[in-house]
Amino acid sequence: MATRNSLTSLYLSLSPLICEAAARRHSLSTLAPKSQMERAALVRSLSSSSLACTTRLFSRSPLRLSPPSLSSPALPRRSLLRRHWRLLPPSSPSSSRLLFRRPFSSLSPRAIATPPTHSSDVVGSRDDVAEKHGFEKVSEQFIDECKSKAVLYKHKKTGAEVMSVSNNDENKVFGIVFRTPPKDSTGIPHILEHSVLCGSRKYPLKEPFVELLKGSLNTFLNAFTYPDRTCYPVASTNTKDFYNLVDVYLDAVFFPRCVEDFQTFQQEGWHYELNNPSEDISYKGVVFNEMKGVYSQPDNILGRTAQQALFPDNTYGVDSGGDPKVIPKLTYEEFKEFHRKYYHPSNARIWFYGDDDPNERLRILSEYLDLFDASSASNESRVEPQNLFSEPVRIVEKYPAGEGGDLKKKQMVCLNWLLSDKPLDLETELAIGFLDHLMLGTPASPLRKILLESGLGEAIVGGGVEDELLQPQFSIGLKGVSEDDIQKVEELIMCTLKKLADEGFHPDTVEASMNTIEFSLRENNTGSFPRGLSLMLRSIGKWIYDMDPFEPLKYEKPLMALKARISEEGSKAVFSPLIEKFILNNPHRVTIEMQPDPEKASRDEAAEREMLEKLKASMTEEDLAELARATQELRLKQETPDPPEALRSVPCLSLRDIPKKPIHVPMEVGDINGTKVLQHKLDTHNVLYTEVVFNMSSLKQELLPLVPLFCQSLLEMGTKDLDFVQLNQLIGRKTGGISIYPFTSSIRGREDPCSHIIVRGKAMAGRAEDLFNLVNCILQEVQFTDQRRFRQFVSQSKARMENRLRGSGHGIAAARMDAKLNVAGWISEQMGGVSYLEFLQALEEKVDQDWAGISSSLEEIRKSLLSRKNCLINMTSDGIDLANSEKFVSKFLDLLPSESPVEKTIWNAQLSAGNEAIVIPTQVNYVGKAANIYDTGYQLKGSAYVISKYISNTWLWDRVRVSGGAYGGFCDFDTHSGVFSFLSYRDPNLLKTLDVYDGTGDYLRELEMDDDTLTKAIIGTIGDVDAYQLPDAKGYSSLLRYLLGVTEEERQRRREEILSTSLNDFKEFADAIEAIKDKGVVVAVACPDDVDAANKEWSDFFQVKRAL
Ligand SMILES: [Zn+2]
Repeated sequence: MATRNSLTSLYLSLSPLICEAAARRHSLSTLAPKSQMERAALVRSLSSSSLACTTRLFSRSPLRLSPPSLSSPALPRRSLLRRHWRLLPPSSPSSSRLLFRRPFSSLSPRAIATPPTHSSDVVGSRDDVAEKHGFEKVSEQFIDECKSKAVLYKHKKTGAEVMSVSNNDENKVFGIVFRTPPKDSTGIPHILEHSVLCGSRKYPLKEPFVELLKGSLNTFLNAFTYPDRTCYPVASTNTKDFYNLVDVYLDAVFFPRCVEDFQTFQQEGWHYELNNPSEDISYKGVVFNEMKGVYSQPDNILGRTAQQALFPDNTYGVDSGGDPKVIPKLTYEEFKEFHRKYYHPSNARIWFYGDDDPNERLRILSEYLDLFDASSASNESRVEPQNLFSEPVRIVEKYPAGEGGDLKKKQMVCLNWLLSDKPLDLETELAIGFLDHLMLGTPASPLRKILLESGLGEAIVGGGVEDELLQPQFSIGLKGVSEDDIQKVEELIMCTLKKLADEGFHPDTVEASMNTIEFSLRENNTGSFPRGLSLMLRSIGKWIYDMDPFEPLKYEKPLMALKARISEEGSKAVFSPLIEKFILNNPHRVTIEMQPDPEKASRDEAAEREMLEKLKASMTEEDLAELARATQELRLKQETPDPPEALRSVPCLSLRDIPKKPIHVPMEVGDINGTKVLQHKLDTHNVLYTEVVFNMSSLKQELLPLVPLFCQSLLEMGTKDLDFVQLNQLIGRKTGGISIYPFTSSIRGREDPCSHIIVRGKAMAGRAEDLFNLVNCILQEVQFTDQRRFRQFVSQSKARMENRLRGSGHGIAAARMDAKLNVAGWISEQMGGVSYLEFLQALEEKVDQDWAGISSSLEEIRKSLLSRKNCLINMTSDGIDLANSEKFVSKFLDLLPSESPVEKTIWNAQLSAGNEAIVIPTQVNYVGKAANIYDTGYQLKGSAYVISKYISNTWLWDRVRVSGGAYGGFCDFDTHSGVFSFLSYRDPNLLKTLDVYDGTGDYLRELEMDDDTLTKAIIGTIGDVDAYQLPDAKGYSSLLRYLLGVTEEERQRRREEILSTSLNDFKEFADAIEAIKDKGVVVAVACPDDVDAANKEWSDFFQVKRAL
């Protein structure tokens, strides 16, 4: 779970798991404060970016704040898909391998730094101190790559291992990791991951985790379950806050209440629910529902099936997250036993990182570890390697599909290999990672390009190389494949791999990949993810298998060795043998065919109902009465607030610890050739970050839905002189990445929306000229002539939107509501919502019928954008590099047309305001309700941030998630437009959730709150507002504030309002919220049966739209 802020709210709610969708790189923490202010805007921009991989798009999670990744969008990482997060995960990568797929940046965690406290450097020998606390030093190394001293200790009594990493990074990180290999698919590790954070010995409240979300300054707070391990990481820049977080986490994992409290297991895992003996029994449970959502998504089913088929003989052959069909087989006894065995110091690996005192770390740990004796857990938790097959295997699986479209063309096929029967050495692993990037890393990479250009499928599936488990795997395939073409896809993949092995890669491709990887390693831009956490996940990827934890941190030598080998022997000599040995000649191959099955969802539902009916029939009246009583009791417990003394047990900062001023980002507003230029002098280690922003307001209304495809075409269509492969190679060789996406938001107090297209790029400052030349080339010279490629963009975008509808239905619902409430929302929905999906469906045919018309529309978009007057430049770098870059900016601007093309278009469109249900094949719902609260006369005050976060973390968390059984429930206030939205995520309910939303006003009016609680809410909000940001993210947020007219004075005023929030503000806010109950619009993305039932109960409440 992780999270904070505004988003937090979101997150939290969203929490846990996986979030796969979320996946892929979503982050909780991303949302920072400012974010609140910028959130909505971000959402819009993100939602509509065509470039982005699904993740970034629209999810209403932290993501929203992060701009799309600069590096080429990579394929989703499979294991991330398989990882379960308590809250939505941060938008970042991590991964044991070098971070090829790191997102460019994101607004990120918060920071209120405290001065470093390096007492150990001054005071005595560290070894003596270690000895005193019961540790022995195993090894000590200085890691140049991260300028850190790292010491590995062993706790003498229990054998617990500790990596203590010291450096000057204020964003301190702690993590404790247990090996937790499951034996079945009951989801024990996942349910435990949720449950241990629900109260412990020292912190006897319902959810200390949520209290930390509400009231700490954490820059990261979450927990996640892998197929073979469970991680509990926290981070903060404030030392006192950091140690508070560490203590709550240590107490949670070692002394959780869930092993004595059956009701926690029921709530987080599963239970039978019966409100009244005359009604039907149902299954409830947070993890149960979360996993139902996961098992409704075809890409997830594919990933799970592949993993289980590749590893039939070890722990990876089952699902650590839990299969909803199997979860109800789990008993409480098994659950407790699993905790007793594996959550033990002897089975733990612990990580500390940052500028705090290393001695203090050991002292804190010893207080916990000394309470245990050694156990044999670490022998029992070892993962056995899977032996290689002697011949390939084929598996056919069904996935739940809608009625729409031609089912014959909705097959998926994916080839998967287990690369080796043991872990690879670092050098081979690095080479394989490099090979993966060469084959699949960018749209121009040969394997990816050939598959997409074949016309055999809509989009790529399989994540390429996956190396987060004991043995590496490789997967690649297509979805949207016609029945008759499955074999052709398999042949094409095999042939292409063979051809790559025979012919090798073009030297420019190799150089581009090398530059991209090196840039990314040296920039070390982990976005919203704390750097220390990214290092921890890399280290743990080996350490967890009893290998050297230092080695994965030291990339420099193996990278240089690989470079040297490539230049001496040629890339073919390096990579061809790898393709042959690990893929072509490797018999451990699993081919998975997935077939759409329109009846699967209802069949699964029916089977579940039948089982529950049978159960009910077998029960006596007394049994039923008892079950109803237990259901009641559980709900009562969930809805009873924690007593104040228990709440006070969670340590909290005081308002005195909070700086009175917002975080300052330097900005100089200047002018070059008549164009406005913003400059942010920040220490970026010689990287130049720039955004070239074009106002979109003269674009014709009917061209808006083409904008995302226009952006993609600029990067992926090529010029007269350079085909798109060459263009992408140039970008890879000369820069750290370029991305293009639309950004839309309302502006407070103004009718007109803010709408721009942003070209975002980064490069070493010495290559500023190349960067601006490339941006110019992309904008002015790209030709919109490649019909075949454009057709692919359309099918890929359609596949991506369909995926988003299933996995991030809350984002789709939010966009739809916004589109009914304001123009900015309408624009955004045209470029990233259901309207966009409908546009793409129609466009697919039009590409063949009227390509000339489309091509000239793309040209028209370009003409209406490009002009010096329409342009704004934002730059972030060290001062001298900024000054040196100005001449290139000037040249770039000279090349732009000087006249504004057309005058401003008046956009004036909104969707009709009726309630809507978007029906999709799923087992869980996403329910939204929203209204513009400025229409009620409400005027923005800083307290609104505190209140909306509080509503999410208390009322909605308790009612929608805890007792409602949804994975998440939260609210979101777009302070620019005034739209306040309620949203739920993977929700078993529909109308019942709307009742909860409608009860919010009364909840606020009746709220009682002591000073401690209020202080906590304020501090938590400041934590969001002061999100920790790397320099590029600071420069980017400053740009967004400029575009949205948020001044420094306003930031200061809001901050003061936040700090002085009173209970009375909560009560006043109730009136504004009431408008949503009375006049709000409802949009749900939901399963057909629930919508039918709702329309019967509330006579035709929903207008129904079938989207898949
Ligand atoms: Zn979960």
